Amino acid sequence: MADIPITRLVRTRRRTLSIEVTAEGDVVIRAPLRTPLNFIQHFIKEKEDWILKTVDKTRQKKSEIPPRLYSPGEHFLFLGHTYPLLFHNNFEKEPFFFNQGFFLSIEHQGKAKDLFFQWYIKQAMDIFPARTEHYSNLTGLQNRGIRITNPKTRWGSCSPSGNLNFNWRLVMAPLPVLDYVVIHEMVHLEVKNHSRKFWNKVGYFYPGYTEHRKWLRENGHRLEL
Ligand SMILES: [Zn+2]
Repeated sequence: MADIPITRLVRTRRRTLSIEVTAEGDVVIRAPLRTPLNFIQHFIKEKEDWILKTVDKTRQKKSEIPPRLYSPGEHFLFLGHTYPLLFHNNFEKEPFFFNQGFFLSIEHQGKAKDLFFQWYIKQAMDIFPARTEHYSNLTGLQNRGIRITNPKTRWGSCSPSGNLNFNWRLVMAPLPVLDYVVIHEMVHLEVKNHSRKFWNKVGYFYPGYTEHRKWLRENGHRLEL
């Protein structure tokens, strides 16, 4: 088993074992608090082929994305559409703004990544509360607050007290994909696990969600600065 790159074993109050290969190619095993280690090892052994294949595929995908240079003509995603980065030297304007393209003042190129990051966070802080309120009205599910977070690998989470956390990177994805994550976390307000009951409820509120879930699995690694 030495050749299986298990990165983390996370024990929580869950009932089943699960394996996740993150966008970074890390392997995370989630297990109930008291599952014996040899049982977990047996489970990992059984899934060995799948783990190795998935880790390989993930690393391959990651290496296909060229590093960002923040040069004119590079493209950036917003709500599923791609827009070019263009330089401007109109110093009266803001150093960075969006108008069917991302406009960056030349002398701020060194800070481009930061300016993009702040811009995406700002969009996320508008979009997530609006979408959550929209679906709260439709479903009757009530959350407490919303936080925009910056985790490397999670798209969203729901705290025990009913706060919803959303990854800012999702504003790069098409709106129906972002909406799927909103619904997913909102259903966790009622069903904490990923049981059949959970997925039935997601499907009830958001038919066709499987397509968006698949999009995220296949394209999630592209939602990055
Ligand atoms: Zn979930």
